[in-house]
Amino acid sequence: MSNVYPLHREHNLISHILRVGHTGHRVFEDLSAAGQMPFRRAVFDASHSQRQHDLIAALASSGVEIVLDTKSAELAYEIGMHSRARDLPWALSERIQRPDDWTGVPGRARAEQIAEFAQVIKADAVLAPTHFIDSARSPWLATDVMAARLLRDALDALGSKDIRVDYCLTAPISPLRDQAQIDLVARAIADTPDGNLWLRLSGFGMTGSAAALRRYIEFAWRLASLGKPIIADNVGGNAALSLAGFGAVGGICQGAAERDSFNVSSWRSRPTGGRGPQKRIYAPALDLFLPKKTAETFLDRRYARTLILCKDQSCCRDAEDMIVNAKRHAIIQSNQQISNLSRRPPLKRVDFLLTEALPETGRTLRKARRIKFEDEKLTARLQALADRSERMLHVLEDLHSSVEITPIPKTPISTVKKVEQAG
Ligand SMILES: [Zn+2]
Repeated sequence: MSNVYPLHREHNLISHILRVGHTGHRVFEDLSAAGQMPFRRAVFDASHSQRQHDLIAALASSGVEIVLDTKSAELAYEIGMHSRARDLPWALSERIQRPDDWTGVPGRARAEQIAEFAQVIKADAVLAPTHFIDSARSPWLATDVMAARLLRDALDALGSKDIRVDYCLTAPISPLRDQAQIDLVARAIADTPDGNLWLRLSGFGMTGSAAALRRYIEFAWRLASLGKPIIADNVGGNAALSLAGFGAVGGICQGAAERDSFNVSSWRSRPTGGRGPQKRIYAPALDLFLPKKTAETFLDRRYARTLILCKDQSCCRDAEDMIVNAKRHAIIQSNQQISNLSRRPPLKRVDFLLTEALPETGRTLRKARRIKFEDEKLTARLQALADRSERMLHVLEDLHSSVEITPIPKTPISTVKKVEQAG
C-alpha cells in the first residue's frame, strides 16, 4: 500500500530551470549582479539570443547551462509568423512550416543551420526542433524524431559532440487518457538522442484541473521506463511541486512571472499587440498570480495584506518593491518553493505536499475567500480556487494510496559539470 517505498541512497535534487524569453534577461542580469542567481540552467529563445548574447556569455562562464530553444514549434503556427522567430535561418518568411520542411534535404539543411547556430552561441544543449502533435498519429511525430537524429548528426559533424540534444514533447493533455496513444508516443520517443525529455502539455499548468494533474503524473510515470530524465516545461505553483514531489519529473521549467501554463490555442492567432502582457504578482500562499490591480486591492487591506505580502527580506523590502520588481519576486519565491521541496529526501516529498504544503494553501485560500472584497468576481474566483485546491489534495491522496511505490525521478542530465552538483 501507500507506505511501501524503495530503498535509495541518492538525494535527487529537483532542477529548476528558467525560460528567459524576450524580457527575462533584465531580471536575470540584476540577480546576477546582486549575486542572487538561483539558477544553474536557463533556456534562451534562438530568436532573442543574439540580443541576449552578453548575458549568455556571462552565465555560461559562471557555470550556468545554456539550453537553446529553436522556436520550431511556433513556426508551424500563426504566432511564429508574427514574431522574431520568422527571421531565424531555419524559418520560412512566407508561410507556416509543414512536416516536409523538416524531412529529406530541407530537413538536413535546417538541422545543419541549427547546429551552426548552437555552436556560435556556445549552447550546452539544444531542444530538438519538435512540433505540437495533436495525437500520436500526427505526421509531426515521426518527422520530429527524425529531425532530432539529424540534429545530433549535424552537431557531431561540426565537432560539437558535447552539445546535448534534448527532446521536447508538445502535446495536448486530453488524449493522454488513451493507453494506445501513450504507447505509440513512448515508442517513438524511445528512438531519440540521449538527452532529457521535456514535456510541454497543452491545457495544463498552474491553474489546471486536479484530474489533469493526475493524468500528467501517470503519463510521466509511464514515460519513465524510457530511462530519460523528464522536465516539466511551462508549469508553476503547486501543480509543478506536485509533479516533482510525486516523482513524475526531475526538473521544472518556467518563465519569470510567465510561462507557468501552456495552451497551444494561443499560437493559433496573431498576437494582438498593444502593451504586452499585464503585470502579474506571485502570491505563493494562494498558489496564484494576481493581476497588479488585484494585488494592490489585497495590499490595501490590513488582513488581506498579510496573506500575500512577501516577508522575505532578501527578496522584497516592502509591498511596493514586490509590485515594482514582480518578476524578480516571482523567480526568487518559486525557486525557494522548489528548493524547499528538493532538500527533502525524495521519499518524504509526497508526505510534505499532502500534509503541509497543499493543506496550507487550502487554508489560506479559505481565509482569503472570507474577506469582503467589493469585487464579486474576485470572491468567486477565490472560492473556485479553494474548491480546486481541495480537489487537488483529494486526487493526490487517492493517487498516493493507489500505488505501492512512488517513483524517484531522474535528475536531468547536464553537460556542465558544476550543474550536476547544484541541481
Ligand atoms: Zn518577494
